[in-house]
Order: sequence, then structure tokens, then C-alpha cells
Amino acid sequence: MSTSDRIAEIYEQVKARNAGEPEFHQAAAEVFESLHVVLDRHPGYFEYGLIERLCEPERQIIFRVPWIDDSGQVHVNRGFRVQYNSVLGPYKGGLRFHPSVNLGIVKFLGFEQIFKNALTGLPIGGGKGGSDFDPKGRSEQEIMRFCQSFMTELHRHIGEYTDVPAGDIGVGGREIGYLFGQYKRLTNSYESGVLTGKGITWGGSQVRREATGYGAAYFVAEMAKYVGSSVEGRTAVVSGSGNVAIYAIEKIHQLGGKVVACSDSSGYIYDKAGIDVELLKEIKEVRRARICEYVEERTDAEFFPDGNVWTVPCEIALPCATQNELDEDSAKTLVSNGVKVVAEGANMPTTPGGISVFREAGVAFAPGKAANAGGVATSALEMQQNASRDSWHFDYTDERLAGIMRDIHGRCVETAAEYGKPGDYVHGANIAGFVKVADAMFAMGV
Ligand code: GLU
Repeated sequence: MSTSDRIAEIYEQVKARNAGEPEFHQAAAEVFESLHVVLDRHPGYFEYGLIERLCEPERQIIFRVPWIDDSGQVHVNRGFRVQYNSVLGPYKGGLRFHPSVNLGIVKFLGFEQIFKNALTGLPIGGGKGGSDFDPKGRSEQEIMRFCQSFMTELHRHIGEYTDVPAGDIGVGGREIGYLFGQYKRLTNSYESGVLTGKGITWGGSQVRREATGYGAAYFVAEMAKYVGSSVEGRTAVVSGSGNVAIYAIEKIHQLGGKVVACSDSSGYIYDKAGIDVELLKEIKEVRRARICEYVEERTDAEFFPDGNVWTVPCEIALPCATQNELDEDSAKTLVSNGVKVVAEGANMPTTPGGISVFREAGVAFAPGKAANAGGVATSALEMQQNASRDSWHFDYTDERLAGIMRDIHGRCVETAAEYGKPGDYVHGANIAGFVKVADAMFAMGV
């Protein structure tokens, strides 16, 4: 049987075994596409059911999360933790609280996380979790009660050497605080390294909050350099306005670029003078409000309630909102408006059709598992600080982050070239991540 046929057969098995999980199929298909060239060269990776094992999580936990709202009504949500692969270290990956969360979403995110974490070069395995709980419109106390209930079950499955969750969409510093407090109450031990994204005064790391966005901007700077350009003086568009987007915008500005648009689920804003990041932080982090409030204070800016942020012309695009937000049509619009560099700040925000458009147009395109790895990498730095009961300064931590992003970029570029796909970050990231994980899995036996 040819390599392609064998891969296609395994892919069909994976799809059949995980029916009704389209995002997971999409994430697996993207990795499988990159494996042809590796498996042609090293058919040994087919042995010992390696690929089949890689696709099946080591453990999947689904649990009930009951909680009481402010009016006394009981709600029941569903909690998930998928412990995907622990060959390189404890399972590591965020928790997402969003109504769209289901097992398939958590599996796609966990699967991506394996390769992303491998790319960081740090000793962390892959996992992901979350709940279909919708934090939107919930009071402070409702959020607290929900987090406490979630941790009341989750605490039995995690630990500094077992599984170390962090934040993702809907889970930021506030939620990590409530989760950590409940873990500490239940276990009667101050196990700092059990969660990352903690507050600075109680075991958190400098730069963790900024890390995913800063890291994506550092990665973009490397990509721009690689294609003979730079961020300086370039116009950029960022989708989203959460933790990743805000700090990507901040760092792009520090690097001399200008971000003119960003978005939330209610629409997008365009500010030709460049997004005022402090105002954006005030609206999103302090007021927890909608993005349209921006134009009340910056009257030269415009708000487009139904528009698509990707219609705004730019040379650099950073999708930082959520999965499959940048489709084929948006990619075509970006290409015709002259985009040169696209880097995913979110996980799998570009559809397969969108990726093909960028590939065909020769646009430098970096997948999330490379471009947004700065968040989890800094989580691993937080774990290092917790293990040594130390806390590092901001500038030192930021330098470590920048160095890690440079290394990931180098690893992607070198691996892509080694396997005959020069300049293709998707293949570079998938292959480099796969080889590292696969070799460790072989070493440890079935
Ligand atoms: N949720 C982030 C990601 O997608 C960070 C995970 C972590 O820090 O563990 O990589």
C-alpha cells in the first residue's frame, strides 16, 4: 500500500471513531497532510500503531457542573478535560468556557496542543478542557460559583506532575484565581504549579498575560524578516479583542507597525490612526464591555456592526478570535488587498480553503501551533518558577519569550526546508512537532 493510501486509511478510521466532531477531523487532516513526506522518508513511523495512538487521547473526562445563579435557579453545565498526550511532560493546555464547547472542540484543541507544546522545546505534554458554560452577562459571584463547582470535580484529575490547566477563551486571571482557590481549599496544599496564569503576587509569572499576543507579534517579526520585510511602518489587522488580540496589537505597535482594526462578536472597529490599546484595555479588561464603546471616545474611528474585519486592507493579518473565522472568501479579499504575512493568534482560525488561498498566493502563513505558542511557553516558564520557588523580572521573562519564538520560527523554517517545503510554516510546524512527539513515544514503548 502506498504512503498516501495508508494515511488515508488511518484518517478514515479516526473519522469513524470520532463521528460528529468536524473540528477534530479538520485538525487531524491538517497534520496528516504534512505527514506524507515524513512517512515516505521514514515509513518506520507507521509501526507500533504510532499514528493511531497519537490520535486517541490517553484519557477523556466528562463531568457534571451544577451551580446556582443569583436568583437561586440551578443550572447544569458540562465540564471536559481531555488528557491527550503526556510523552513530553504533564498534560498542559487551557480551559475554555464558551457555549460552543463540546468534546469535539476540546479534542481538536488538545490535539493541536500536543504539537504546539512540542514546538516550544519545553517539557510539556498536550491537553485541553473547558465547559459549555456561557460567562457572558454573568455576575462576578456567578462566575465564582461556577469556577468552584468546576474545580470540585476537576481537582481529582490534575496536579503539578499530572496535568496543568490554564486559561483560554472565557478563562482569564479572574477565573484562574477562583479555580486555584478552590483547588487549594480541597487539597489543603499550596501547589502553585497545578495551574498557570495565576496572579503575579501568588505564583504567577510576569508576561504570562501578554505572552500569547506578544509571542505572535515576535513570530510575525521573524516571518517578515524571513520574507525580506519588517513590521516597521506596516499596516496590520487583528481580529478579536480579547487577551491575545490586545497584546498582539500592543507589541505590533512597539515594533513600529500600525494596527488599524480589531473586532469582537458584535462587529469591528477601524481607526486609521492606529488602535488606542489603552482604551481597548479599559473597555475590554476593566469594563468588560462591547467594542462599539471605542468610537464613543475616539470619534475619528468607525464601528461596523455587521462587517467583516478582513475587508480592511493590510500587509499583516493576525486572526486572534476563534476557530474557522477566516474563510476562503476572506483570504481572497486579504490577498487582493496585498496581505504579505498572516499569523494565527487563535487556534485554527483559518479554514482549509483559506490556507489554500494563502499558499497559492505565496503569502507567508503561520499556523497557530507555531505562532501562538508563546502563551503556553510562558506557562511552562511559570511552572519553572513555581518549581524553584522563584519569580523572574518582566524584562528577563520577555527576553526568554522572544528567544523561544525565534527558536520556534527557526525550527519551522529549517524543518520545512529539510522536507522539501521551503517557506511552508504549516508543514514545518506539523513535521517538527510530530517528529519530536513520535520519537519520544517510540522510546517509551506501547
Ligand atoms: N490556551 C492557550 C493555548 O491555546 C494557553 C495554554 C496554557 O498556557 O497552558 O495555547
